[in-house]
Amino acid sequence: MEKREQLYEGKAKKVFATDDPNLVIVSYKDDATAFDGQKRGTILGKGAVNNRMSNFLMKQLEKEGIPTHYVEELNDRETVVKKVSIVPLEVIVRNISAGHFASRYGVEEGIVFDEPVVEFSYKNDDLHDPLLNDDHAVALKLSTREEIARIKAYALKVNEVLKKILLASNVTLVDFKLEFGKTADGTLVLADEISPDTCRFWDSRTGEKLDKDRFRRDLGNVEDAYMEMQRRLLGE
Ligand code: ADP
Ligand code: UDP
Repeated sequence: MEKREQLYEGKAKKVFATDDPNLVIVSYKDDATAFDGQKRGTILGKGAVNNRMSNFLMKQLEKEGIPTHYVEELNDRETVVKKVSIVPLEVIVRNISAGHFASRYGVEEGIVFDEPVVEFSYKNDDLHDPLLNDDHAVALKLSTREEIARIKAYALKVNEVLKKILLASNVTLVDFKLEFGKTADGTLVLADEISPDTCRFWDSRTGEKLDKDRFRRDLGNVEDAYMEMQRRLLGE
C-alpha cells in the first residue's frame, strides 16, 4: 500500500490517496476544535487514541453485522479505509440529555431517555451544520428515503453494540455522532470515526466526563481522559 497525495485536510484528520483508487489513508491529528471551529487547541496523543479506538470499535461493529470503511491499521495514527462518498448528514444518537439537546430544549443534562433519540444535521460548515429531519434531507436530495431508513437502523444497532462494549468498561454512552458513506459499488458503510471526539462518555460509577467535553468546557485533565478511555477499551 503506497501513500500518495493529500486529498483533504480537515479539523482532526488528513486524508491521503493510495495506489488503489478504492482505498484512502486517514491520518489522525492532535488538533482539536470546538464550537464550530471558534475554539482551537492541541490534545497531545489524541490522534493515536482516536485512531486505535475507532478501529477497535469498527472491528467489533463489523462482527455484529454493520458494514464499515475499516480496512487496516498501518500505525498509531494512520489507517487504510475504503474510500467513500460521504452522505452529508451527521447522524446523532442520544441516550441521555447533554450538549445541544439540553441547551436547545431547555432541559438539564443527565435525563435518561426511555428510547434512543436519532437526529440528523446537514453536514455543511458554511451553514453551521443545521438540524434537519428526514423530509428535509430528502427534499434537499442529500439522501433517499430508503437510505435514511437504513442509516437510522444501522445507527440504532451501533448504539446497542457500543453501549454493551462500553458498559463492560464502566463507561456510559451518553450520545455520539456517526457519518455514513457509499463505496464505489454503492454499498452504504459506516465511515469517519468513533472516538472521544465524537462521543460523550461518562464514567458509569462516578459520572466523570471522559471525552471532548473536558476540552470544550475547560475541565482540565483532557489528555488523561483520552488515555483513560484507551486504557479501559484497549487495556493499554
Ligand atoms: P472535518 O472535515 O469535519 O474537519 P475531519 O478532520 O475528521 O473532519 O476530516 C475527515 C474527513 O474525511 C471528513 O470530511 C469525513 O467526512 C471524511 N471521511 C471520513 N471517512 C471517509 C472515507 N472512508 N472516505 C472518504 N472520506 C472520509
Ligand atoms: N458531535 C460531533 N461532531 C459535531 C457535532 C456533534 O462529533 O460536529 C458529537 C458530540 O461529540 C456529541 C454528539 O455528537 O457526542 C451530540 O452533540 P451535540 O449535538 O450535543 O453538540 P455539541 O454539544 O457536541 O456541539
